[in-house]
Amino acid sequence: MIPITDNHIHLDRRGKGLLAAKEFANAGGTHLILVSKPSWTLGVTMTSPEDYKLVFDETIGIAREINRSDIGVTAFVVLGVHPAEITRLVDRVGLARAEELMIGGLDVAGQFVCEGDAIAIKTGRPHYEVGGDVWDASNRVMAHGMALARDLDCAVQLHTEAEDALVIADLAAIARESGLSPGRVVKHHAQPLVRDFEEIGIFPGVHAGKGAIETALLTGDRFMMETDYIDDPERPGAVLGPKTVPRRTRQLVDRFGEEVFWKVHKENPEQVYGIEIVL
Ligand SMILES: [Zn+2]
Repeated sequence: MIPITDNHIHLDRRGKGLLAAKEFANAGGTHLILVSKPSWTLGVTMTSPEDYKLVFDETIGIAREINRSDIGVTAFVVLGVHPAEITRLVDRVGLARAEELMIGGLDVAGQFVCEGDAIAIKTGRPHYEVGGDVWDASNRVMAHGMALARDLDCAVQLHTEAEDALVIADLAAIARESGLSPGRVVKHHAQPLVRDFEEIGIFPGVHAGKGAIETALLTGDRFMMETDYIDDPERPGAVLGPKTVPRRTRQLVDRFGEEVFWKVHKENPEQVYGIEIVL
């Protein structure tokens, strides 16, 4: 048996919920990095940073249920504010208040990290074209998340625009300016640019879509694997399913051996998040 970790997955009680964790386990999965859902997908309207607690309590609650169950999967929680939140907030409350609410939401996430209920902060910047003022505000929000992670001695997961070497270097520079080592930064939904990431110091969570993991393995082993499964009852087939990471891993073990997957599924997440992956 080898450890098999999905570096970025969402579960929703209105979707498959714990059943998805069971499917993951039955396919051979052992550890989940469970990320909070965007507030709007839970129907929560932000009027104060404290409102993010409703979103975070939901993620923490699902992780607790998994960890107390006999499913055989360990769930770790990552909490934060989805960068696309800024567009929704700007329309409703204006840019200045939007930035304030998002920074406040990250601070609330930080409290949960401090209390040991979460292992990392999720932040980033929009993956789509936005105006210069929204872009600048988003970069300030992301830098705040990084500074918070530095203070808490935890990792950040970033949701950003599609990356190339320049984008990776820019993200690493913002991390350094915020006092956070790039070695504690995970680019979520990453492309298999394993060498670029390794050179620059950020960790990629490579999206396990067709061919990407093979490409990653041909260039190195300093990456993690993820589905970004969203467990949305209205879009059941929209993304990779919860069984994807264990299935791909088991298929690829035949070709690449087990050793490399101990690095991908155990050593790498242990190093970047400061957690223990125990079978
Ligand atoms: Zn996600």
